[in-house]
Amino acid sequence: MTTNRTRIHHRDPRHDLPMAAGGDGPFVIDSAGRRYLDASGGAAVSCLGHSERRVIEAIKAQLDRLPYAHTGFFTNEPAEALADHLTSRAPRDDLRELGHVYFVSGGSEANETAMKLARQYFFERGETGRRHFIARRQSYHGNTIAALSVGGNAGRRAVYEPILLPASHIAPCFEYRHRAEDETPEQYAIRAADELEAEILRLGEGSVIAFIAETVVGATAGAVTPAPGYFQRIREICDRHGVLLILDEVMSGMGRIGQLYACDHYGVVPDILTCAKGLGAGYQPIGAVLMSDHIHDTIIAGSGAFQHGFTYIGHATACAGALAVQRVIEEDGLLENCRNMGAALRGQLRETFGDKPWFGDLRGEGLFIGLELVQDRATKRPFDPALRLHARIKAAAMAEGLMVYPAGGTADGRAGDHVLIAPSFIIDETHVGLIVERLDRAIAS
Ligand code: PLP
Repeated sequence: MTTNRTRIHHRDPRHDLPMAAGGDGPFVIDSAGRRYLDASGGAAVSCLGHSERRVIEAIKAQLDRLPYAHTGFFTNEPAEALADHLTSRAPRDDLRELGHVYFVSGGSEANETAMKLARQYFFERGETGRRHFIARRQSYHGNTIAALSVGGNAGRRAVYEPILLPASHIAPCFEYRHRAEDETPEQYAIRAADELEAEILRLGEGSVIAFIAETVVGATAGAVTPAPGYFQRIREICDRHGVLLILDEVMSGMGRIGQLYACDHYGVVPDILTCAKGLGAGYQPIGAVLMSDHIHDTIIAGSGAFQHGFTYIGHATACAGALAVQRVIEEDGLLENCRNMGAALRGQLRETFGDKPWFGDLRGEGLFIGLELVQDRATKRPFDPALRLHARIKAAAMAEGLMVYPAGGTADGRAGDHVLIAPSFIIDETHVGLIVERLDRAIAS
């Protein structure tokens, strides 16, 4: 592996990294010419691979026209067109329509923005006593302070614990780990969701701003899909107590599970939805916060404007890139390919790994797939976290020319090591075969 000493303080400065030098469809090429099949889209970002000409040309054209104009002075065409694209396809029900968008630069900013938006909505209504957020353990919502406050990853929180916002955490909806043997998935979904109501009542009526959850849990647990009926029950509970529902689709949205908005697949409409990663597919850094018209209108009728803002909101070039990404996905029917290749990949993974002694669980939807490894299949006992199995799999996979996104289990045994597989939507059967073959060699090594 080519390594390069660098002055950049990257994610883990103790280790050298290969130098990324080029891209070719789903492959990343390093400076020594080695090709890595990107089976994780980086971190579920690169849904169009690394060399989509139509997106590159759209970005170049926008740069020629106008790279950027501050939104304190102007709106711009790509931002307006992208807002139309996203809102016209957004989920809706009888009570809410996600008719307005706020563009930011990434996922943490999107969640930070969503939380402030929710707080201001209640401020405008005179419900200023609402100051708590409820989230779930085993969730990740970003690394800025508000987003970290609702995240459930103990390791990431530890250093900052004393300066986090008031937030509490209920259990995740995680069938493999938490459903009792004598429970149906539907019964389990109700039990898991009812923890939210108990927590709202414990904190006191009128004190909770919002419940925030990933529609499908990504990095912390590995593509954990909700049990049937879970989000319907959550929606009812939120409505009963006037609590807003924020769905974080930074990782699971924008087609990753084979549908543009993951919540559409599970039949629930949030009050606020955040997305990022796949929105710009890595061609531009961009995130978005979709809000229901009711939230938007309440703020406009109240103090008149959202007390928030970043220099790069509605960035013209970022929006042009994201719009081109979303158009390519539609033009090429890539959501369908995502569903088909997802089914093929899950099938081959089960065939190859289903009988292995370490095989715990294979889960996910579309091209958002989690493979959990355990020490004991019967008891689901995870491997000792000190082994850092996930890190070893990641390194072994890189040596095989494969990028996957593994994460570790928890010390309390609530979760095992898992490998998150989230390749781009452009892959075909050959890539599916290569992913499974290389992952097999990496795990065996
Ligand atoms: N929310 C979820 C579900 C994520 O997976 C991530 C990133 O992995 C974030 C938020 C934070 O996004 P970003 O790293 O773009 O700030």
